[in-house]
Amino acid sequence: MSAIAENVAALREKIDAAARRAGRSPEEITLVGVSKRQDIAAVQEAIAAGIAHIGENYVQEAAGKRLAARERGLHEARWHLIGHLQRNKAREAVEIFDSVQTVDSVKLAQALARQAALQNRTLDVLVEVHLGEEETKSGVAPEQAVDFAAEVGAIDGLALQGLMAIAPFGIDPRPYFRQLRGLFDTLPEQHRQVLSMGMSSDYETAIEEGTTMVRIGTAIFGARVTQ
Ligand SMILES: *Cc1c(COP(=O)(O)O)cnc(C)c1O
Repeated sequence: MSAIAENVAALREKIDAAARRAGRSPEEITLVGVSKRQDIAAVQEAIAAGIAHIGENYVQEAAGKRLAARERGLHEARWHLIGHLQRNKAREAVEIFDSVQTVDSVKLAQALARQAALQNRTLDVLVEVHLGEEETKSGVAPEQAVDFAAEVGAIDGLALQGLMAIAPFGIDPRPYFRQLRGLFDTLPEQHRQVLSMGMSSDYETAIEEGTTMVRIGTAIFGARVTQ
């Protein structure tokens, strides 16, 4: 077994165990392998090891990998954009990704919807919520998340599936995961399909707090290759 396949197997066991400890079914939790700054060979190994969802942060970087994956016949994975998206990259993002998890402005949502219409498809999206006090340019404030989600959910061409967030670094993530779960629970049922929270350092806590999608990079691929 390759190191990546071993990591995936070990991770699945831990995810399953955390789910059972929390009284949940392991099938409720989707594993996204986050392959930013990893090469196509690593992505290929992960897909061969059963990873069915790939997360990427940058449109440009993902474009090359997705093309290479298609050329190698790796069609089975779904690709998720999990990094901040600029509106002028909406066309490429819709070409490359099955799902965009980082919708945080009406203008971005509209740009994605326009491109989805031009490309004759519906785009799955999540609203990114900004948790904690840190200064960052991505995510809507928790107080605005539910109204904003209703606005995004009403846009033709987008299928709003739920919420995504990153817990603040260096402090206990549990209260933040709990806050996101609370917001998620107030959404109408059709928008309550995916709650994307939990990374390599905090996915077990996220599972205890109700996540349905964990996004795991280093615990699968090891340290990221610097560019
Ligand atoms: C990089 C990244 C991850 C994965 O982080 P790891 O700590 O390597 O598991 C998950 N989500 C987002 C939004 C990221 O940018």
